Amino acid sequence: MASPTRDNPKTGRTQRRGEGQWALGYREPLNPNERSKKDDNPLNVRARIENIYAHGGFDSIDPGDLRGRFRWYGLYTQRKPGIDGGRTATLEPEELDDEFFMLRVRLDGGALTTEQLTVLGEISQTYARDTADITDRQNIQYHWIRVEDMPAIWQKLEGAGMTTMEACGDSPRVILGSPVAGISVDEVLDGTPAIEAITRRYVGDPAFSNLPRKFKTAVSGQPDVAHEVHDIAFVGVEHPEHGPGFDLWVGGGLSTNPMIGQRLGAWVPRDEVADVWAGVIGIFRDYGYRRLRSRARIKFLVKDWGAERFREVLEREYLGRELIDGPAPAVPERPIDHVGAHRQLDGNFYVGAAPIAGRVSGSTLLAVAKAAEGAGSTRVRLTPQQKLVVLDVAESEVDGLSSALDELGLQTAPSPWRRGVMACTGLEYCKLAIVETKRRAHDLVADLERSLADIQSHVDTPVTVHLNGCPNSCARIQTADIGLKGQIVTDADGSQVEGFQVHLGGGLGLDAGFGRKLRGHKVTSGELTGYVERIVRNYVAGREDGERFAQ
Ligand code: SF4
Repeated sequence: MASPTRDNPKTGRTQRRGEGQWALGYREPLNPNERSKKDDNPLNVRARIENIYAHGGFDSIDPGDLRGRFRWYGLYTQRKPGIDGGRTATLEPEELDDEFFMLRVRLDGGALTTEQLTVLGEISQTYARDTADITDRQNIQYHWIRVEDMPAIWQKLEGAGMTTMEACGDSPRVILGSPVAGISVDEVLDGTPAIEAITRRYVGDPAFSNLPRKFKTAVSGQPDVAHEVHDIAFVGVEHPEHGPGFDLWVGGGLSTNPMIGQRLGAWVPRDEVADVWAGVIGIFRDYGYRRLRSRARIKFLVKDWGAERFREVLEREYLGRELIDGPAPAVPERPIDHVGAHRQLDGNFYVGAAPIAGRVSGSTLLAVAKAAEGAGSTRVRLTPQQKLVVLDVAESEVDGLSSALDELGLQTAPSPWRRGVMACTGLEYCKLAIVETKRRAHDLVADLERSLADIQSHVDTPVTVHLNGCPNSCARIQTADIGLKGQIVTDADGSQVEGFQVHLGGGLGLDAGFGRKLRGHKVTSGELTGYVERIVRNYVAGREDGERFAQ
């Protein structure tokens, strides 16, 4: 393999320079993150948390563990309250650190029993000040966690079959899966066994616990998991000769260098998904760029190599066999979010409900578990759109369950704005944030439900509005109709205030592509409602029948 090249700005010559790829012999760490992972496998931090830090408290935590290895168990320090977003970039990490943690529980495929949901709610009430957010990666995220409580929290989670292992960090993170896998009338096949095989075989495997950076996976029998923006994705497709299986995508990702994943043109049967996944993550571990964190995602490697070469290396060096060529999956005309009541394969219904931007609470989770059980269900799913779905509901129970969810603020027939809004953690808890997001999303929805009530019935296709608190893209802003990237902007009086850079016209599915960032297209947080209202009114006034926002 040829080394990547780089231009030397001083000499004007092109020079060879490695990017820290292990497979090319760069085994010595080239930055502090790589050093930390090499010095001690991050998975070892669990024992220190249980044996040392849980007894010694926050001040006893080694800084390398605190800001590095803790992530492999879903733990990040949360932002100290009261520090405004304008100071985020000017402060040292320790000045931003609170002594409390954000904790992510990985829920592969977003799959929960009502029993597990109850445990999650109880943990929230006991240890997390009743906080709980549904993330767009189908996790539950807590806040206000103390390190002293982690042993008890793990005991409760693991007693109910849940884990925080590799919920964050440079590791194989939670696997997105269809919330309606196995019951959907629209899926090509059920991806659940493939997700279970990957998690059983590889989550917590030291062979994959030191990756160049995070590795995001999606597996679904239908295109309902934003597969286009994943490091690796398997999407259900019917092969004309071999039947149902998965189309393989690699190299998608958002953040500051967004890229749509590339199809390798390969069809993978369900029982081979875990092997192929291990091959791709092996390439990432061995050939991924480790010199610069900003280039350490697999998308940069895939971009440099191209799909053809990537597939060739996968087949020759990692699988030892050729993959079967296969067709592309069907593309949905509209984003699929599973909100509302829909008939399942077995004749029962699933009922999807919309909290605003994923914000719920432990008490709400307990109440959802109770309502679901009251309707005869024992299964709940979280979705990649920050929604939740109750499965297996008899037709006679649908209305009663819908009313119960509505009373909890989880609407099953939400307005298009409530349905289409997503927001990341933002200034409330995130140390990287520049602006507030969750509360802003809440206020935006409430305002739009009032101010756009007159045209709501004309909006028959969802208009998605995603809010990020910083240039990272935890809420997938580039794939929204209206994507809002938090930053400090100048208001009409010349003051520096919270606001957003606007991206317009992004989408997935039929409209897969990133929203356009128009120079100077910025809005203050205070002007946000009026701005979104104007855009939506213009769109509704000018659209043809059935025309989507991105067209
Ligand atoms: Fe934090 Fe930025 Fe991600 Fe929002 S987008 S959660 S502010 S890192």
